[in-house]
Amino acid sequence: MKEGSSAVDSVVHSVLRKAGVLGAKELEAWKRPGDDIRRLSQRDYGASLRRRLDYRQVKNLVERATELWPHFNQKVLGPPSKGFFSRAADALQLHLKAARYTSLALYGFYVDRSETALTKPLIFVNSAHHTLAIGTAFCHEVGHHFCTEIGRPRSAGVRFYFDSAYNEHLQDNGELAADVIVSLAGYPKPAAKRIFAGRQRRAIAGKGNLDHAIIDAIRAHLEASYRFDFSVALSAFQNLQYLAGMIHYAKLRAALLEEYEL
Ligand SMILES: [Zn+2]
Repeated sequence: MKEGSSAVDSVVHSVLRKAGVLGAKELEAWKRPGDDIRRLSQRDYGASLRRRLDYRQVKNLVERATELWPHFNQKVLGPPSKGFFSRAADALQLHLKAARYTSLALYGFYVDRSETALTKPLIFVNSAHHTLAIGTAFCHEVGHHFCTEIGRPRSAGVRFYFDSAYNEHLQDNGELAADVIVSLAGYPKPAAKRIFAGRQRRAIAGKGNLDHAIIDAIRAHLEASYRFDFSVALSAFQNLQYLAGMIHYAKLRAALLEEYEL
């Protein structure tokens, strides 16, 4: 059955109406990106990864992603363009809606079929963000969809993706699984091995900070692959938000390499 865009739009609106209420805690945290960055830097990602997702679960996710994107974790995906998103959404039989949403705290959400009258699950991405952040949101929500398909970790209901919630993602199997997809998509293995090299990898995967040389290598990779850099056109606040995301996905990527050799 073909569903009209108005049915999808009305679900999007009704979910977005709940974002401010359901995400009150996250929206409050979003105003203090410095706190998030400090906590993320000190978290042991290797330990969180092993606690939340075993090797088999991560491997299943990688296999599913490779069916969709044959070069997953081997080459950079994308560029994160409209065509890239819609091809993936078609292949996965998902509704995809991209629209500007006023609060940049929200990256997007995923709603499985049980929550709505729609015949297919729905991904919403906030297109007010930089292309790389939109791609991040899309891959994260696709990660939730993989979990729904595979059945592990369980991923039912509405899943909001708030920019400030990375610390919570480390305590939630479903959110961490979705972030694994982002991290592997963003840093394919050859790039990850080059950036997170030698003994430093273990430290970063653990409680270590990213030093200047590593941050420079990450920025060079993001610039070359996705045309992203911290822009003077953005507020210092928004740049700090993006920095929190960068630290989160980089530490997770180092942990995936260190713990599971992915
Ligand atoms: Zn999520």
